[in-house]
Order: sequence, then C-alpha cells, then structure tokens
Amino acid sequence: MSHYKTTLPDEAATQALGKSLAHTLVPGLVIFLHGDLGAGKTALTRAMIHAAGFTGNVKSPTYTLAEPYQVKIRSQTTTIMHFDLYRMLSAEEFLDAGFREEFNASNICIVEWPEKADGVLPEPDLNVFLSVAGDGREVELQALSAKGIACLASLQF
Ligand code: ADP
Ligand code: MG
Repeated sequence: MSHYKTTLPDEAATQALGKSLAHTLVPGLVIFLHGDLGAGKTALTRAMIHAAGFTGNVKSPTYTLAEPYQVKIRSQTTTIMHFDLYRMLSAEEFLDAGFREEFNASNICIVEWPEKADGVLPEPDLNVFLSVAGDGREVELQALSAKGIACLASLQF
C-alpha cells in the first residue's frame, strides 16, 4: 500500500492513528507532516512518541525547532527527533544547527512544516497531510520509498 486516506472524527482517532503509526516505525524513517496550524500535526506526533514508550511531556518545539525523545523500537534504544520548523527563518539556520546530521540511519525524524527547509531536507519516506474537516480531521498518508511502503503495509488502523 502506498496511499491511505481516512477521517479522524475526534482527537481520540488522531491518538489511535498515532499509536498505530508508532508500531510501524523503524530506525532511519523520515516522516513529513503537512497541514495548517491546528490541523493536528503535533497531536499526532505526541501520540506516536507516547505510544513508542516515552512517558514524559511532549510539547511542540516551536522555539527550539527540534526536540529529541529516547524510545525503544523493537527493543533497541532509538531517538525520535521531532522538528517544528514553523519559525525557522532560512535553510542556513537548519544547516547551522546541525539538523541535517540528525537525518541518519538510526534516528526517526518527524518534521512539521518541512516546506520551511525546502532544498536542505532529505526526501521523506512518508508524507502525512492533515486538514480540518467539520469538527474532525482528514488525513492522507503517502509512502514515497520502499521503507515508507513497508510502513503503510504494516499499518493496522
Ligand atoms: P498543529 O501541530 O497541526 O498546529 P496541534 O496538534 O497543535 O496542531 O493542534 C491540533 C488541535 O486539534 C488540538 O487542539 C487537538 O486537540 C485537536 N485535534 C487533533 N485531532 C483532532 C481530530 N481528529 N478532531 C478534532 N480535533 C482534533
Ligand atoms: Mg504543531
């Protein structure tokens, strides 16, 4: 499966999707989250990080731009890097912060507002498009690599 679309009628549905996605995570995976402010990008990320076993607070890294979380993926300690690039001013800022190096074979990178780092970000394995639909949300998942396809194929939702 390389494409999947569904509605998320309430926040619990967003959390359930995050939990399902967490079970498909593998080291090296890169996920881009697209959607307006309030679409649910952080809510979905938070659900993934918690379902991956992180018990602390997960807040939007609005000012720090990135936040690392240590989790266990298939009994291996792995870092999920959560990026929120909304306030990033230039691609240079991304490079100067050393963010490019975080996209490696061992980290899992989840990126809100990837548009802000156009040209310096690697290609994602998965694109997630979130939008407001009535009181709920619509979500579209698009796999762009073999890794992304495997991830969607194992998604149980
Ligand atoms: P973003 O990171 O995209 O700017 P947030 O995740 O910070 O958005 O905020 C999304 C808001 O929408 C939160 O208040 C959350 O409770 C709410 N929300 C998340 N998923 C749903 C859903 N499926 N239906 C309705 N509200 C939702
Ligand atoms: Mg956000």
